[in-house]
Amino acid sequence: MQHLTKQFIDNHWVESQGQRRLAVTDPYHQRQIAEVTTGDPADVDAAVTAARRSQSAWQALGGDGRAPYLEAFATHLEQRRESLMRLSSTNNGKALAEAAIDLDDAIACYRYYAGQARALEARQGRLVEHGMEGVSARTYEDPAGVVGLITPWNFPLVTSAWKIAPALAAGCTVVFKPSEVTPLPEQALAEIAEAIDLPAGVLNLVHGDGEGIGAPLTAHPGIDKLSFTGSNAVGAKVMRAAAEGIRGVSLELGGKSPILVLDDAEVEQAADWVMAGIYFNSGQICSATSRLLVHHSLADALYDALGRRIDAIRLGDPLADDTDMGPMTSARQRQSVEDYLAIAAEEGLVAVRDARHRTLPKQGEFIAPTLFRDVPTSSRLWREEIFGPVLCARSVASEAEAIELANDSDFGLAATVISGDTERARRVGRALRAGSIWVNSEQLVMPEAGWGGFKHSGIGRELGPWGLAAYLEVKHLIGPE
Ligand code: NAD
Repeated sequence: MQHLTKQFIDNHWVESQGQRRLAVTDPYHQRQIAEVTTGDPADVDAAVTAARRSQSAWQALGGDGRAPYLEAFATHLEQRRESLMRLSSTNNGKALAEAAIDLDDAIACYRYYAGQARALEARQGRLVEHGMEGVSARTYEDPAGVVGLITPWNFPLVTSAWKIAPALAAGCTVVFKPSEVTPLPEQALAEIAEAIDLPAGVLNLVHGDGEGIGAPLTAHPGIDKLSFTGSNAVGAKVMRAAAEGIRGVSLELGGKSPILVLDDAEVEQAADWVMAGIYFNSGQICSATSRLLVHHSLADALYDALGRRIDAIRLGDPLADDTDMGPMTSARQRQSVEDYLAIAAEEGLVAVRDARHRTLPKQGEFIAPTLFRDVPTSSRLWREEIFGPVLCARSVASEAEAIELANDSDFGLAATVISGDTERARRVGRALRAGSIWVNSEQLVMPEAGWGGFKHSGIGRELGPWGLAAYLEVKHLIGPE
């Protein structure tokens, strides 16, 4: 069993006084695979102090000087690909193919922000076009300073890459708290920082849970900016802490994203997209398209096509090649989804496929893929994020009704439109209030395009130039020519 007893602070593995030990589990075998001695508030303080001390030298390296470190992160992740995939799969319960996506998207992100660091350097001191005679104005983009980064457990490597890579590219220094549920893949980032001789204090990692480490980090006066990915309830706490200290904050929160199947869609193709949007990663995706709005003329045929596909999903050992869907990441998450299934039973929802009627593997925190039809828009299952393999569907009479119901949500992270006419699908997509709209596709993510939510799905954007801007402060130098 692996013991993570040290925090990575100022390029030293620090033996923490850590009063608490957290068990790290393998949700398929339902056994403990590691133990983490958490840091304590003194470790947070030491990490922030180290990050503060190193920040100006890191900034002074310039984007060109920082870019090679980001490339080295990508290269080292690539070199560890096989072992990291297996580790991530074991700790997270995700099938190997899903672990590969987590890792490959993270690698692409570090590479992309190496390029962005160079582009940032090239545009420093850019002249502003204006109409004032004899005056010169130039823009510079400075790093926000010391940033506190907090991530969840569902895609540990990619959610952390989306923060760490742009923060380092911008010239910020980092105190990172990974999820206590999946600390093993993310521990590798500190090991890589050491292996590539990242200057001391630039990336610090402190393990722990939300109350023990997350809260002291968000409240620390030495933090200039917070970036958080996780649930809405915790996001609100992070925002409150940011308000107390008047710190910048970016939030990537939950979703309840719609998928619209228009009347001209081809049913079998549409069924493939619907499946990809909800059952991938056992439904534990913030951008899962978990509300299906299908034109009534196609509804029965689509439910039939989905039922056949659901029956074909192979549940099992995430490390096995013939597994399509692994267990939920934790007993807690399985219980949370089961609570929703109990609500569905109380509400009398009609299941096309019901998790409770399927034989599950003998071990593991499994929830079988589930599909409810004719779900009322007032149902809690229609309105709340379930974060599991549960799809809620209802039929609609028109495109206008589909758009109206799609937008009738507190969330606005993503949406999908399926149509036989791509131009029509794009037009409908423009009418939806969400950060990522997939047109005849599902869950495509690229580092060049922004990521983030409207409404309660978050504040700010990750990825693309916007993801870098989140860690920059713009300043103007203006005076006589
Ligand atoms: P969570 O909010 O429970 O935990 C997220 C992180 O916050 C963890 O590291 C946790 O230790 C920490 N935390 C908990 N309490 C804290 C506190 N008081 N102060 C500071 N930090 C604290 O979320 P989770 O269960 O790990 O992840 C699932 C959620 O994440 C879902 O709602 C999902 O939609 C969301 N998510 C969003 C995105 C996105 O890009 N929008 C991506 C992935 C996950």
